[in-house]
Order: sequence, then structure tokens, then C-alpha cells
Amino acid sequence: MDNKSLWVSSIFIPLLIISFALPPIALCQEVEDEHEFSYDVNSHNGPNHWGEIHSEWSMCNHGDLQSPIDLTHERVQTTSKLGKLDRDYKPANATLINRGHDMMLKWIGGAGHVHINGIEYHLNQLHWHTPTEHTVNGRRFNLELHMVHESIDGKIAVIGIMYKIGRSDSLLSMLKPYLKVSAATKGVETSVGIINPRDIKIGSRKYYRYIGSLTTPPCTQNVIWTMVKKVRTVSREQLHVIREAVHDHEFSYDINSHNGPDHWGEIHPDWKLCNHGDMQSPIDLMRERVQTTSKLGKLDRDYKPANATLLNRGHDMMLRWIGGAGYIHINGTDYQLSQLHWHTPTEHTINGRRFNLELHLVHESTDGKFAVVAIMYKIGRPDSLLSMLEPYLKVLASTKGVETSVGIINPRDIKIGSRKYYRYIGSLTTPPCTQNVIWTIVKKVRTVSREQVNVIREAVHDDAEVNARPVQALNNRWLKLYRPDEHRND
Ligand SMILES: [Zn+2]
Ligand SMILES: [Zn+2]
Repeated sequence: MDNKSLWVSSIFIPLLIISFALPPIALCQEVEDEHEFSYDVNSHNGPNHWGEIHSEWSMCNHGDLQSPIDLTHERVQTTSKLGKLDRDYKPANATLINRGHDMMLKWIGGAGHVHINGIEYHLNQLHWHTPTEHTVNGRRFNLELHMVHESIDGKIAVIGIMYKIGRSDSLLSMLKPYLKVSAATKGVETSVGIINPRDIKIGSRKYYRYIGSLTTPPCTQNVIWTMVKKVRTVSREQLHVIREAVHDHEFSYDINSHNGPDHWGEIHPDWKLCNHGDMQSPIDLMRERVQTTSKLGKLDRDYKPANATLLNRGHDMMLRWIGGAGYIHINGTDYQLSQLHWHTPTEHTINGRRFNLELHLVHESTDGKFAVVAIMYKIGRPDSLLSMLEPYLKVLASTKGVETSVGIINPRDIKIGSRKYYRYIGSLTTPPCTQNVIWTIVKKVRTVSREQVNVIREAVHDDAEVNARPVQALNNRWLKLYRPDEHRND
């Protein structure tokens, strides 16, 4: 075949030269599902295991038309018969959403079509992968854009454009401020105004064509892939912005994972204390190291009711107060109550014993110091706060990054039931593992029903069975137990 005489070239993987009388495929656009998958090949929810995570994802492991592929020279047949890529796009309003595993730009209303073999595929969304998913003769480039199109009967056609480091890309330049806003705000959608898909340059009429699949779960097959042959350019800074926006600094509670608790300090330079700090939390509240005292004084809580929202952070459920919910006062400093969240099972242990649930009430002073009040729970009667929040927890189940208003929550309703508490200086128990946190752990272990523990566990629904960091070395720290002086009435 004489390549030079052709103005359009394409590849077919010979096995896949099939008619376009394809079976209809699922309506879902890549993944909108709540089950988590990871790109970490060493993780148990990594690419080799996607098909095991959810019954509807079995294609990821067992499909025989999966994407991406290497666009291998030897398998390419050049042809002019496919015709010029027939794009009929128009400007439309769009939003940007951080899906956690990627950033997606979704058009609202019609942004036009591509026409392939007489079928119109409506342009829905685009998103990026770093580095490229497809390779060309084994070579991987820096960035791959996927423009996802769907026909009325649910067939999918994706146009892929690859980028290497060079001059900046105009679409990413335009989106830069929005990408920065969306950084680390998983699940939140931001309007970016009108985006004209015609502005996405292809720069060549040559393209590869094959039949493959979505490259994320459910890995739906019979997707028509059009990979633009020309590798375009993106600046190093733009690549960095898009990677940071997705914020792939994920940590896990799975001790066997390479982003598990023993490795948190290696995931991000700002998280070093997680591995190297000497005042880390949680700890075992060991009898031998506890000094009993009445000098710490009664826990001075000055709370008030305030509006709150509930947010599924993926690794935990957090209730955040909007506006002031009051303070605790410790050694003359006011620490404002900002949020609470739960860990299952408890992070702190008492003489080696672990309980079922630990509540953390997080307070912060105006100069950024933290004070956390922890309450531990064992299985028994239900907890009133969780009873009240249960419907919201169920709504938020598996909706990482989504925040829901729960109305007014009065922190005074959170019962402590004892004046005795442990006090020590430790750290946040999640990255960045910031130290010099004043810990107050209520001595009395309260109760929660087994069903409530399950609700909170199901709501978080991450890959690990627990969200409790292992206990850390006490090192030279003191550990005090406040017990009111019986002769005084404090
Ligand atoms: Zn994709
Ligand atoms: Zn916590």
C-alpha cells in the first residue's frame, strides 16, 4: 500500500473489522458509579481488579475488545475509505467536574455531533488522562484527551487526542482558573460558561480507527475509537495543573497498599510528619503511662446550635458547621468547633483494647492550632446523633465529595457522660498528620448500635474495611487522666 498517496490514513485491528450493526451498549458515560476504582496497579482495586469490584464491571476483566491498546505498526491497515472525520460541533454552556479519578468538562445542551457511518454521535463531555492511555508503537505521551459522544440508541464514539510536552494547549489555557478552583473538590461542579468544541484543534486529518471499550469501569465494549494521529502539545505547567486538580494524592487505610498508613509520609512532601513525626496520633492509652490529676480542670465547652452540612470525604463522613458552633477553652485559648467525623473502629485504644467507633470533634484556634475531643463507642444502645443523621448518611452513601445540608445541629446534644478525660499532645490522624494537636479523649466509652456502625461504614464505602490509623509510638510524651478533685466540686 502506498502511504504517500493517501490523505486519510486509519488503522484497523483486523479482527475487529465488523459491520456497525452493533448491539446497543449501556447509556452510562464512562463511570458514574459509586464504587471506587484506582489506577494503582498494586492496589486491590487497581486496573487488574476492576472487573471484580462490581458485577456490572466484569467486562473490565473478561472483555475481549478492551481499550486502550498499543497502536502497533504491524497491525495497522492504511485506508482512505473511512472518510474525513465529520465533526459538526457548536458552542454550548459547559461545566467542569472533578470526578476524583479525572476532571470532566460536560456540555449542557447541544454541543453538536460527529457522524460516523451515517450515525450521529452527540458530543457529551471530555476529560483527560495523564499520561496517555493509548501508546503508539509502545511509546507513551504525556496527556490524552477523550471527547465522548453518544448516539440516541446509546452507542459510544470517543475521539482521542494525544499530547506531548511543548507549546501550551489553548483549551487548557482557557480552563486553567477553573481547574485550580476545582482542585481537590471532588464531586463539585463549576460552570465555565460557553465552550466551543470547534476550538479543540486536531491539526491533522489522519486518524486511527478501531473498536474498543470505555477505559474506565464499566469498560463497556463496542466503542468506536478515533485516535488522532498527530500528537499535539501541552505545556509542562498545564500538565501539572491538571494532575494537581485531580489531586491523586490519595491515602488509604489498607496496610497492604502502597498508599497505606505506613507510606502516607511518602505520598506528598507536605505529609512527611506522618512517617517522621515523634508526636503522632492515635496512641494506646496505656495504664502504665497515665498520670492522674485534677489540675487540668473540667472540660470547658461553650457550644451553640448552628447550621451544618454532611460531606462524604471518601475516607470518612464529616459534619461541618457553617457559621459558629461555639468553642472549647483550653489553657486560656479559644478553639472554635469546626467539624466532626467518625472512625471505625476506634483509633485510640485503652490498654490495647479497641472499641467500635470513635468520634472526633475538631476545633481550631484563630492562629491555626488544633484541639480534638474524641469520644469512643462500643456496641450497645443507639447513639442519638447518628440516629438523627441516619437518613442523610444513607443519601450520601458512596457519593464521594458531595455535601448535603442537614439543618441545625446542636453540638451540646453530643453527650459525653463523664467528666473524666485523657489529655496528651499528638497529631491529626490523617495526612498531613500535623503535630501539636491537643487531644482530649473522654474516658467513658459510650454506646452505638451495630446497625449504626454499619450505616456509617457503608456510607464511606472505600476500599479498606476500616478507617482507623494504627496506634503510633508514645515516645517521650506524658499522658494525663483528669479526675475531678472529690473535695472540690469541679
Ligand atoms: Zn477516558
Ligand atoms: Zn479523626
